[in-house]
Amino acid sequence: MAIRQLREIGDDILTKQCKAVPKMTLRTKILIGDMLETMYEYHGVGLAAPQVGVLKQIVVIDVGEGPIVLINPEIVETSGEQTGEEGCLSVPGKWGIVTRPNHVKVRAFDQEMNPIELEGEGLLARAFCHEIDHLSGQLYVDKTEDGLHDVTYDSGEEGEETEE
Ligand code: ZN
Repeated sequence: MAIRQLREIGDDILTKQCKAVPKMTLRTKILIGDMLETMYEYHGVGLAAPQVGVLKQIVVIDVGEGPIVLINPEIVETSGEQTGEEGCLSVPGKWGIVTRPNHVKVRAFDQEMNPIELEGEGLLARAFCHEIDHLSGQLYVDKTEDGLHDVTYDSGEEGEETEE
């Protein structure tokens, strides 16, 4: 496995539609391993393939409950609402307030291309939405309620000490 270079906002690749993965290949398996390693290296809770320069519908997520790999994911059901802080490894040093559904059901394929269905609440639901948005070239920065804020590094957690 290897750490891949992160693409940052302003890079055209982050605005493009990703292609579905038709079958699992060694090359794609290596990509998934690298995406996981890159996500952990940069302390992200999720990473989408275009963020490492690959226009394929692949997402990795770990909200602290172990790694999740989603191939060709689609959101099939949402309910509720949550408003909270969101950041992105492709938008370093920034955060913003975004409203997302609080409960999200996703249909996808796992690494063996078996169909799977996953449900997430709270942070996991937010991660599903954020990462799947990347696959159609959408960034959270266009969904913030009052724009982007700078991460204040002296307060520990990102943006925790800032006012509403
Ligand atoms: Zn992101």
